[in-house]
Amino acid sequence: METPDYNNAKQKALALLKETNTVVPPVDVDDLIMKEGLKIEKVVFGEKFNDVSGFLDIPEKAIYVNLEDSYGRQNFTKAHELGHWVLHRTLFETHPSKQVLLRQANQNTTAVEEKEANVFAAELLIPKYLYLYTLGSCPDADIDRLADLFQVSKQFMAYRMINI
Ligand SMILES: [Zn+2]
Repeated sequence: METPDYNNAKQKALALLKETNTVVPPVDVDDLIMKEGLKIEKVVFGEKFNDVSGFLDIPEKAIYVNLEDSYGRQNFTKAHELGHWVLHRTLFETHPSKQVLLRQANQNTTAVEEKEANVFAAELLIPKYLYLYTLGSCPDADIDRLADLFQVSKQFMAYRMINI
């Protein structure tokens, strides 16, 4: 059984933030995705696939995002799929059977690639240095305010505050 490499996922996310000199929230995920040469397609997946939040199409160099999801969730999906692009595209290209993992549904998944993409997304959207900077400059900020500043969902903000 493969072991997730969380450290690598975090380092890759931090490297992208450093390259773009991201020093205040929110992290501009769209800009990071564009700089990787990918496009973002916002689509309605329809009733049959409404539990799909998004997926990465490697040959098309496109990230598809569910238009009907909340803004915070869309941001997480984009960061997660960017994580697959940065961390796993070579693997996906050489193992077509792994392509099924490209889709992100609501259910929790235990696949190594999914765990790594989630860690990448968490580090990218709310890196510890930006979190600490923000708490330093707005010490009274509550979860609502922080979620707003980082443009993430409240649930994800709360998770990150415990697991930073
Ligand atoms: Zn995924």
